[in-house]
Amino acid sequence: MSLNNAIVRRPTCRVLVGHVPVGGGAPVVVQSMTNTDTADIAGTVAQVHALWQAGSELVRLTVNTEETARAVPVIREKLDALGCNVPLIGDFHFNGHRLIKAVPECAEALAKLRINPGNVGRGVKKDEQFATLIEAAARYGKAVRIGVNWGSLDPELLARMMDENAKRPKPHAPEEVMRNALITSALDSAARAVELGLPANRIILSCKLSGVQDLIKVYRDLAARSDYALHLGLTEAGMGSKGIVASTAALAILMQEGIGDTIRVSLTPQPGPVESHNDRRTTEVQVAQEILQVMGIRSFTPLVTACPGCGRTTSTVFQELAQNIQNWLRTQMPIWRGQYAGVESMNVAVMGCVVNGPGESKHANVGISLPGTGEVPVAPVYVDGAKTVTLKGDAIAEEFQAIVEDYVERTYGTKKNEPS
Ligand code: SF4
Repeated sequence: MSLNNAIVRRPTCRVLVGHVPVGGGAPVVVQSMTNTDTADIAGTVAQVHALWQAGSELVRLTVNTEETARAVPVIREKLDALGCNVPLIGDFHFNGHRLIKAVPECAEALAKLRINPGNVGRGVKKDEQFATLIEAAARYGKAVRIGVNWGSLDPELLARMMDENAKRPKPHAPEEVMRNALITSALDSAARAVELGLPANRIILSCKLSGVQDLIKVYRDLAARSDYALHLGLTEAGMGSKGIVASTAALAILMQEGIGDTIRVSLTPQPGPVESHNDRRTTEVQVAQEILQVMGIRSFTPLVTACPGCGRTTSTVFQELAQNIQNWLRTQMPIWRGQYAGVESMNVAVMGCVVNGPGESKHANVGISLPGTGEVPVAPVYVDGAKTVTLKGDAIAEEFQAIVEDYVERTYGTKKNEPS
């Protein structure tokens, strides 16, 4: 699949989050967040490691107590010992200023502090507590995300802007004032952080909402009014297909307009057995990668093109083959990534019958057209558009996988990737 050159990224400041560049033309970064108790060091290390292995390039942790703040440097150490260098982000609300003062090693171990201006404090204490966090970030050379959320928008700012609006000859709609308050909170906080000595190229902004149209409006405005690097995400997107669809709709429109330097897809994990807890959490990483890949923005894992099936596919053979091949490609990637440069852009087609099977398979790097109901039970295979072999019998799946593996070695085996 060719990369989509039609997207022109909006120019932003480049921010280094640990070793990962965000903005300034760097590839859009995928990030995620743990849902373990950060004080549970073993559990958090295991989940950060799982998220990183799934492809998360930044991982955020909750830091809400002194115990969790003390856990952060230990988690960092243990991850390093496992060879997992993913930058960690501390998520602070309400008491971040106290935690950073009490446990400065926490700030040192983090690559970025996430500060929510709506949850920093109230009244006169707000400025002082905000300054404590910003000064810690400046002192230790860390990046900061000023992350505004409509669920915790600064109530004093909103009240003031609502009052000002009410005095206008033609007041704006309350929702417009609210959207403007989100942007004002982010931009004013960023300006204050710069005044306090944090360079602009260490600041990332976000303004999250849970409504798709609201999110799009806010980010368009935010992008027009500043050149800070932007973190994109639909907050509280929800569970299952609803969360995936809502996030995809919002993020895709904004990224098509070149807006967004790092993304998170905030999915509520499906309930399930404890032992697969971390696997379920990694779904948000996979979805974020797939959004970027299907839009032609970045490639992560070879994708399988498969038809939906219809009355011509009364058996489940092709569904199983499509799923098995996609799972196998995904599990191969941690090994292939370092061995086969470019393999992540490979496209494999698994099709259900002769109607579109040969045509779609010819467009893929490797494709197979399985026999539909009533067809001769043979499966032609196409490699780079040319028919190479026709498979038949009970071992079609294994033989097709071997063909894909051979293709990967022959096509991508000459150039090694640098270890990341
Ligand atoms: S390729 Fe064949 S099996 Fe697949 S949806 Fe089209 S007609 Fe149905």
